[in-house]
Amino acid sequence: MYSDIYKLIKEFDKIVIARHVGVDPDAMASTMALKDSILLTFPEKKVLTVGSGSNKFTYLGKLDKLEDTIDTLLIVLDTPDIRRIDGVNIADFKKVVKIDHHPFVEDFGGIEHIDDKASSASELVLELIRDTPLLMDKNIASKIYLGIVSDTNRFMFNNSTSKTFLQVAKMIKDYDLEIDKLYESLYLRPLNEVKLEGYIGLNLEVTENGVAYIKLTKNLLDEFKVDAASPGNMINNFNYINEVLVWAFFTEDVKNDNIRVSVRSRGPVINTALVKYNGGGHKYASGARIKTMEESDQVIKDLDILCKNYKESGEQLEN
Ligand code: AMP
Repeated sequence: MYSDIYKLIKEFDKIVIARHVGVDPDAMASTMALKDSILLTFPEKKVLTVGSGSNKFTYLGKLDKLEDTIDTLLIVLDTPDIRRIDGVNIADFKKVVKIDHHPFVEDFGGIEHIDDKASSASELVLELIRDTPLLMDKNIASKIYLGIVSDTNRFMFNNSTSKTFLQVAKMIKDYDLEIDKLYESLYLRPLNEVKLEGYIGLNLEVTENGVAYIKLTKNLLDEFKVDAASPGNMINNFNYINEVLVWAFFTEDVKNDNIRVSVRSRGPVINTALVKYNGGGHKYASGARIKTMEESDQVIKDLDILCKNYKESGEQLEN
């Protein structure tokens, strides 16, 4: 599969790389690393990375403006469904490649490389480079490292396999990665976010069956001087709480006129429950968008039932 993808990369002079809306470090790192690797290997090609950016991730590279798409190859990373591709219409491209680690949702009509056991889209880019003549350097390896670290929550999620560790260890050795500096670029944050995290810890509500949740209104975000993307950056820090199996943040996003729902689980599979709310994602790390804060009560009820069923099924004891 990787050799077929490489053949297309070699064949096309113009390549656009896209990823999902609501950019996160893995989406950004994987697209930038792939772009850098293609340009390092084929400096004469035109390679653009597109989609809406975030000031937070400028250390990973600069996004480009989409130009004409005639005779252009589109590579979509980290995105299982067409509706969540950011900034491009797949019908405008001559050929489409999807490289993704989410559970399969729909075919994009081209080459599909899906490995939902992979830790991250960045790990798949690492494999693509490893298994083809595409080149790597320290800059590319650093980006890939950051994408993997971010999507595995510092190798704490069960998507970190022995394969992930082996590949990362080799990359650290081969490219002499300075991981302390890399962690700083990924995790350094304003004091306001830390204060908001403290507020969330103090104000989390927990349902009977172990769903912790918080509703974060625009007024509250303003009070802490943070934006609607900030709570999502800290949701992984609420893992490993005795009383909590599933936790959800509901954040008012005035700019997009919706409520961002971010959910994590350390037991029940949650992505299937969120499909009903215009959402999806991974088994234990999922998101959704709802229209009003009132709808969040129904989401909480659904998640609570999931937790109840999970406890009653005895799966908890097996894990
Ligand atoms: P987040 O909580 O936003 O970090 O998202 C966790 C996971 O769920 C990521 O893999 C996202 O791509 C996915 N996700 C978030 N929002 C949605 C949505 N509205 N629809 C489908 N998947 C989503």
